[in-house]
Amino acid sequence: MMPGGDSAPAIFLLFVLNVLTCLPLGHASLPLVINTWPFKDATEAAWKSLQSGGTVLDAVEKGCGQCEEAQCDGSVGYGGSPDERGETTLDAMIMNGDTMEVGAVADLRRIKNAIGVARAVMERTTHTLLVGESASLFAENMGFTAEDLTTNKSLNIFLEWLKGNCQPNYRKNVFPDPSKYCGPYKPRAPVTDKQTRGHANVHSHDTIGMIAMDQGGRVAAGTSTNGMTHKVPGRVGDSPIAGAGAYADSSVGGAAATGDGDVMMRFLPSYLAVEQMRAGADPSAACETAISRIKRHYADFFGAIICANTTGHYGAACNKIAGFSQFRFTVSNSETVTSRVLHVDCF
Ligand code: ASP
Repeated sequence: MMPGGDSAPAIFLLFVLNVLTCLPLGHASLPLVINTWPFKDATEAAWKSLQSGGTVLDAVEKGCGQCEEAQCDGSVGYGGSPDERGETTLDAMIMNGDTMEVGAVADLRRIKNAIGVARAVMERTTHTLLVGESASLFAENMGFTAEDLTTNKSLNIFLEWLKGNCQPNYRKNVFPDPSKYCGPYKPRAPVTDKQTRGHANVHSHDTIGMIAMDQGGRVAAGTSTNGMTHKVPGRVGDSPIAGAGAYADSSVGGAAATGDGDVMMRFLPSYLAVEQMRAGADPSAACETAISRIKRHYADFFGAIICANTTGHYGAACNKIAGFSQFRFTVSNSETVTSRVLHVDCF
């Protein structure tokens, strides 16, 4: 019983919570914010932006930006996933499903707010993707602050990796043997090494991928990530690639992916999922098709995807591998009151 009152409000609250936690996966309602992983604060930042009159692009920028500042799981924003040289570099994209405009940055250095720079690429250039040093220079010219993205944590991850003979890494067919030694590496003939050693797994990364939809079914999608730990400098994953990391089309819906970007970007899973929805598939089925397509070639890839259509229905799918049997994602819509973490069983 609540102090000084009767127990009815508390019981009512419990009832409401109970009803909410029983909402079936994919319960439809607009507006909608949905993102990969249990990054609730990001979902709420996006939701708040929509509620206070922001556009879907504002919502995606705010949501992914929150994750960048909070360094969600160490896998988004500064101070995470140091590359082979110990540096954190960022990839991000944002897509306007009304105009099909995209802004993206890859291998961005020294700038924390990658999703903000991606939006600046979309709104202040006629390009789609800027990379590396030039992207950082563009960001500085647009008023973003340049600062060191290294933290004690990322430095320690890097130093431990060096101490452990640079294991794991993403090299193959090189000399010295990358499964035992650090570089510098030189090419080794013949090119026979097909092993997937060092490939991404559940622990080496995450990414925020977000879809926001307003009452009128306008869709935006975006991503932000610091990629994969110990990546080869210059490596860019799926996240800043339209159709791979995310895709939005206000006549259909949106999708966003997370996982082993080196594999996933070969299949444009977000584009495929949106096209499946265009052809009539419900979001869960569309997500499953996108995962199945990759599975056919890479049965043990690590990856998941979220999908939503413009009626506010949503779904998710993931590839079941050792250590990854459930994928969690977060949703806010008018039914959830606050953001809710849901999960889907991988197949
Ligand atoms: N897809 C991202 C990448 O490969 C990482 C992730 O989603 O976990 O860069």
